[in-house]
Amino acid sequence: MNPLTAAELLAVWEHSLNKSQLEKAITLLAAACPEMDAEAIIQLPIGERDAMLLQLREWMFGSRLVNTAHCPQCTEPVEWENRVADLSTPPKPDLNSSDAFHLKVSEYELHFRLPDSNDIAAALKKNDDQAARNGLLRRCILEARHADRPCDIGSLPAAVLEKLSRRMEKLDPQAEIRMELTCPSCEHQWRILFDIISFLWADINRWAENMILTIHELARKYGWSETQILELSPVRRQMYLGLIRP
Ligand SMILES: [Zn+2]
Repeated sequence: MNPLTAAELLAVWEHSLNKSQLEKAITLLAAACPEMDAEAIIQLPIGERDAMLLQLREWMFGSRLVNTAHCPQCTEPVEWENRVADLSTPPKPDLNSSDAFHLKVSEYELHFRLPDSNDIAAALKKNDDQAARNGLLRRCILEARHADRPCDIGSLPAAVLEKLSRRMEKLDPQAEIRMELTCPSCEHQWRILFDIISFLWADINRWAENMILTIHELARKYGWSETQILELSPVRRQMYLGLIRP
């Protein structure tokens, strides 16, 4: 994986306008990882995919993450700040061990894999959260047995799916990053899910809008082409801008 050049990032941004968040993430990673094909990127476990997005975020915009959430109790805006390293979970347990993807709950035995971007896309199509969650879990079950006999994945008890969900979280802790927030005005505490895709895309949007403006100003003043301006280092672009802005 490589950091994107300004020209590459602007192309990804333009390409992804009107695409879903998921497609944006895949397009971005495909541009950053020429060594991987799109299908391989789609099939990455979510935690691995998100760790790559965090790494890209750090390369492109630094490691400081600042965002605002609204207190669910009093609607007061609460600003939170993290560093990329705070959101990176420790290395995963040994995913290669033969029983990592094998779960036994009383008489049930499951073989499963971790959810990937296709599974998330399918889950997002469901309106009901519970149906989406269970559908996601079932998609990842490769084989289910009950009392040593193959059994229907659709009829697994809720308790078995719950255990499966917890095992998946343990195996792929980077997939769901939660943060504890405390409201400064009413002291209400709550947890939020950190969504790297929308966070990173907001950065990219801001960056692209600024870049278009920069290209416009420099081209108008110096007559340089868009390509020439994109090829300048960020420091030079900033310095030339400083010279022409009042
Ligand atoms: Zn509050």
